[in-house]
Amino acid sequence: MDFSLSNLPTSQPSHEVTPVKLLILGSGPAGLAAGLYAARADLSPVVLTGMEHGGQVSLTYTVENYPGFPEGIGGTALVELFQKQAEHFGAKIEYDTAAEVDLSQRPFKVRTYNTTYLADSLIITTGATSRHLDIPGEKELTGRGVSYCATCDGWFFRDKNIIIVGGGDSALEEGIFLTRYASSVTIIHRRDSLRAGAVLQARAMSNPKIKFIWNTVVTEVIGKEAVQAVRLKDLVAGQEQEHPTDGVFIFVGHTPNTQLFQGQLALDNAGYIQIDTLMRTSVPGVYAAGEAADPHFRQVITSAGMGASAAIQVNHYLDELAVPN
Ligand code: NAP
Repeated sequence: MDFSLSNLPTSQPSHEVTPVKLLILGSGPAGLAAGLYAARADLSPVVLTGMEHGGQVSLTYTVENYPGFPEGIGGTALVELFQKQAEHFGAKIEYDTAAEVDLSQRPFKVRTYNTTYLADSLIITTGATSRHLDIPGEKELTGRGVSYCATCDGWFFRDKNIIIVGGGDSALEEGIFLTRYASSVTIIHRRDSLRAGAVLQARAMSNPKIKFIWNTVVTEVIGKEAVQAVRLKDLVAGQEQEHPTDGVFIFVGHTPNTQLFQGQLALDNAGYIQIDTLMRTSVPGVYAAGEAADPHFRQVITSAGMGASAAIQVNHYLDELAVPN
């Protein structure tokens, strides 16, 4: 299975129209679990991969907390299994991305690069994207020492000194992973206690390559062709100083990928799709699952569970509408 963007079509939209009973937007754990359940309910679901085939977990080196894999499993390997299982029961995976949606009436219209889908029901699992710090030098030096993906870029930092920004599970998990390559990993956190879970905290604290700088934020990334240093601000003492580094990995949370639905679905203040306990959005027939609709848990297992729940609900919804199978 090729998880690269080269699978995505680049052609201009055509006028082809494709009617479907269920269209699933997104191919992370939520989308693929929804695809599996919907396929087994004979709904012939079409899953659009979106730009990030496999979702964020496919960029994770190892997943240790998905039940059934006591030794852990690679993130890409796990979603490959999800996809294989969904396809085995008839889910159709399309390497395509929604560019525009019209949820004002059924069938819902979803225009992609290849076609326009007319969908009797929709499950939105568009996930979330890494948040940026929005500080000087960050954008300019992205790909030249600034990174949001340890699995993608860690290899480039062999025997280098790097910093990590953030204090959550991602910061610690990716920081521990990066000690495979880097000679030192300094985690810079804006408070004096971590948000990350106890297991990761203990593992990071006992790693001889990991150091912490507390109560501190990064205010600038410095460098011309590549990162050379960051400017740090001590939030307690108020002092600023330059800190030399070869790389800056930023793990400060995520923003839900829901811009496409603004003005059409109820979103909360942070942009997450509002759903009820049955995964229903504000538009009947449109369901949402995974990180696009979950500001709280954001785990592979919870996203997969939400995707399965959404597919079960779509089945009831279509039954009630008496759309023939
Ligand atoms: P997160 O839990 O939201 O943590 C973000 C971290 O970045 C927090 O420590 C936050 O500081 C800090 N931060 C936010 N904005 C910042 C800014 N502008 N400047 C400096 N620091 C900033 O995000 P995450 O670590 O990506 O985790 C997301 C979700 O995925 C969580 O639910 C997590 O449990 C889950 N996850 C789980 C695992 C695992 O179980 N192995 C691995 C990865 C992710 P504060 O603490 O002060 O708010």
